[in-house]
Amino acid sequence: MTKRKTAVITGSSSGIGHGIAEALAAAGMNVVLNGIEPAAQIEPARKAIEDRFGVKAIYSPANMMKADGVRALIAETEAAFGQVDVLVNNAGIQFVSPVEDFPDEKWEQIISLNLSAAFYATKAVVAGMKARGWGRIINIASAHGLVASPFKGAYVAAKHGIVGFTKTVALETAEHGVTVNAICPGYVLTPLVQNQIPDTAKARGITEAEVIRDVLLAAQPTKKFVTVEELAALAVFLTTDAAASITGTALPVDGGWTAH
Ligand code: NAD
Repeated sequence: MTKRKTAVITGSSSGIGHGIAEALAAAGMNVVLNGIEPAAQIEPARKAIEDRFGVKAIYSPANMMKADGVRALIAETEAAFGQVDVLVNNAGIQFVSPVEDFPDEKWEQIISLNLSAAFYATKAVVAGMKARGWGRIINIASAHGLVASPFKGAYVAAKHGIVGFTKTVALETAEHGVTVNAICPGYVLTPLVQNQIPDTAKARGITEAEVIRDVLLAAQPTKKFVTVEELAALAVFLTTDAAASITGTALPVDGGWTAH
């Protein structure tokens, strides 16, 4: 029997990350869940993954906003499973404000979590992946890694940054069996999006229903939210041998948004 692969998914106690963790477990990988919630809160979800898919799952509440937290997550994974085969840099937050009022600390937090965490995690795993001749790094960017929207300066900067970082690491690892790709989702109805609806309504002076219709889904020609399952299926595909030649890409899953 081939050894089970191990996948670390940052920010996987909720939303897209959780869906990706479940799908990678369903594909037979041991998974490391991560988020800011206390372990007791995530325990039912962690156990459900083990029970449903027959793999091992651990949870770490390491803070991805800090370099030491990122390094601790990777160290914890290596202690539990020996190595990291698949790294999904997913943890992210959003803040919506015109640039002149954008709080400095929100800028710093978003750049730390949505961009720098991927650097620290990649730095910690890439040597092992290269030495073993196999690895997959998947960065959850955004359609906002390819195009901008107003009032999201920090988020758009971080997501464009991670697309550039993806390309750089892909070039550095291309001859070593390691692929590095970004997935660029359009709007997915997770807590991250639900929480920004009231702020967007305030920033634009419109109702929350109008935000959903005229701002969020107006951007997506399909007029539908992207689903977690669609993103998880793509992430799983990127870990397969069939995807070995896909590297350095930023793959939009956005209902046609960036075709505009
Ligand atoms: P979510 O709010 O549902 O989940 C965020 C996750 O990040 C949670 O597990 C949370 O615990 C974790 N997290 C937050 N702060 C953390 C920290 N300091 N350290 C460790 N973990 C932390 O969000 P989501 O919508 O699933 O977003 C996941 C990723 O997908 C983000 O990078 C986001 O930018 C990206 N994305 C989301 C959408 C969307 O429409 N929801 C679209 C494009 C890209």
